[in-house]
Amino acid sequence: MEYNERRDYMRENIDVKQIKKIYIYIVLVMGSIMLLFGNRVNAEGILQLQAMVSDYQNVLLQWESDSVNNTFQIQRCDSGADAYTILATLSGQEGSIKCHDYNVKIGQNYTYRVVQVLGEEVLRESEAVTLRVTLATPTKVKTKIIKDSRIQVSWKKVNRATSYTVYRSNRSNKGYTKLTTVKKNSYTDYDVEKGKSYYYKIEANYHKKKDYTSAKSEMADAHMKPAMPEVIGSYAKKKIKLTWNKIKGADVYYIYKKNSKGQYKKVKETKKLHYIDSKVKKDKKYSYQVVAVCKADGKLIKGKASASCEVLAADIDPKKKMVALTYDDGPGRYTEDILKCLKNNQAKATFYVIGCNVNSYKDALIEADKMGCEIGNHTYNHPDLTRQTDESIKKELDDTDAKIKKLIGHNAVTMRPPGGTLDDRVESIIQKPIILWSVDTRDWEHRDSGRTVSIVMNNVRDGDIILMHDIYGPTRDASLVLIPQLRRAGYQLVTVSELAQYRGYTLEKGKVYRNFRKKR
Ligand code: ZN
Repeated sequence: MEYNERRDYMRENIDVKQIKKIYIYIVLVMGSIMLLFGNRVNAEGILQLQAMVSDYQNVLLQWESDSVNNTFQIQRCDSGADAYTILATLSGQEGSIKCHDYNVKIGQNYTYRVVQVLGEEVLRESEAVTLRVTLATPTKVKTKIIKDSRIQVSWKKVNRATSYTVYRSNRSNKGYTKLTTVKKNSYTDYDVEKGKSYYYKIEANYHKKKDYTSAKSEMADAHMKPAMPEVIGSYAKKKIKLTWNKIKGADVYYIYKKNSKGQYKKVKETKKLHYIDSKVKKDKKYSYQVVAVCKADGKLIKGKASASCEVLAADIDPKKKMVALTYDDGPGRYTEDILKCLKNNQAKATFYVIGCNVNSYKDALIEADKMGCEIGNHTYNHPDLTRQTDESIKKELDDTDAKIKKLIGHNAVTMRPPGGTLDDRVESIIQKPIILWSVDTRDWEHRDSGRTVSIVMNNVRDGDIILMHDIYGPTRDASLVLIPQLRRAGYQLVTVSELAQYRGYTLEKGKVYRNFRKKR
C-alpha cells in the first residue's frame, strides 16, 4: 500500500517538473519566434522614398517609418560615380521622416536610396530616386478672383529665382501652355471670361538657364462666375413666362420667386432658357430672379442674381414703359421671321400692309393676327394719296380692308398713308385714325441693320411709334436684335391701338397721331 502510494507520489512529481520544463521551453521558443516575426513585420512592405528640391541647393528626402526601432541609412550616388555612399544613419523615429541633403550643386543629378538595416543585415531598401537639383518648385500657389473680372495668381517666393513662368490650362490635368514670364511672385490674368474655369502652374527660373528651372508647381484653380442673365417676364393665358439670354458656361439656371415675406425662394432648376409659372393670380405682381450656375470639378459656381424681374399678372402693365413697333409695305418674305422673334420675346407689333401684297403672304398675316399683333391699312397700291382723287383714296383703303377682313375676319382699325404724305383733304376723307411715327429708322434708305438698331436704341422713349419695313433683310436682322434688346431695356412691345389705350388716348377718325407719349 505504502510503496504504491510513494510511486504514485513520485510519478506525480516527475510529471509536474516535466510540464514546467516544457512550458519554459515553449515560452522561450515562442518569444524568439515573436521577436523574429516582429522584425519581419517591420521589414515588410515597400520603402517609398520621395525626393524633391525643397529650396535652392537643398534636397528634401521623405519616407515612412513604422517603428521607432527602425534604423535607416540614407545613401547617395553622384552622377558619374559607380557606388553609393552613406550620407547619414537615422534611428529612433516613427512616422514620416524628413531629411535634407544640403551638400548638393545646382544643375547636378543625384540618385538617392534609403536602406533599413539591423546591425549588418539589410532588411529592406527603397527604389532609387534620381533628381536634378534645380530651383525649388514654387509652392503655395493661390488664386483670387478680383471684381468678377480678373484672376490674381500668387505663390511663395523661391530662393534665388529671378523670374517665374506662368502656365495656364482650361483643364486641371493637361493642356498647360505658357502664359507669361514675370519677375514678381504674382500675376494678374485679365484675359478671362465669365463662366469659365482656369488652372495655373508656376515654374521658377534663374537667369533663363535651363538647368536651373524648377519643376512646375502644383495646380491652382479659379472658377469665374457666370454672367448675370437678363430676364424678360410676361403674362399671358393665366401664366407668367420668364425668358432670359443664354449665359456662357452656364450648365443650369436657378429661378427664385419672391414670397409674401419678401424673400426670394428657389422654385426651379432648369437647363432651358425659360420658365413658366402657372401659380399666379390675375392683377397681382410677382418678382423673380434668375441665377446662372456652372459646374466645375464637382463644385457649383453661382453667378450674380439677375436684376429682379417684376411681372404684373395682366397682359400689359400700364406703369411700365411701352412702345409700338410698326412695319410697313408688307407682308413680305421676312414677316414670318419677325413674328417668330416677337413671339419668343412676348412682344407684339403693328403691320401696315399693302393690299396687293396680302394674298402672297396670307399665312404670315393670319399668324400675326393670332398672336395679337395689329394689322393696319397702308392702302392697296401704295400711291401718294395727296395726288389721288377722293374716290381713289376711298378705293385704296376699302380694297385693302376687304382683303384683310377676308383673312382675319375684321377690318384694320388704324391706317398709315404711304410715305406719310397728307393734306387736309386726304385727312378729311380717311375714316380711320391716321398713324405716323416718332422714330424713323430710315431702314429702306440705308439698309444697314446695325444702323437701324442704333437709331432705335438711341432715340426710343416711352410711348414712341417706331417706323420700319418688313420687306428688307437688314430690317429683319435688325428686328432680331432690337426686339430682345428693347424688352431687356424694360419696354413692353405693344400694338399701336394698345399703346394709345394705355396712354389714355381715344383714337379719332381722320386725326393724325405721331406718338402716344404720356400726356402732361
Ligand atoms: Zn409705305
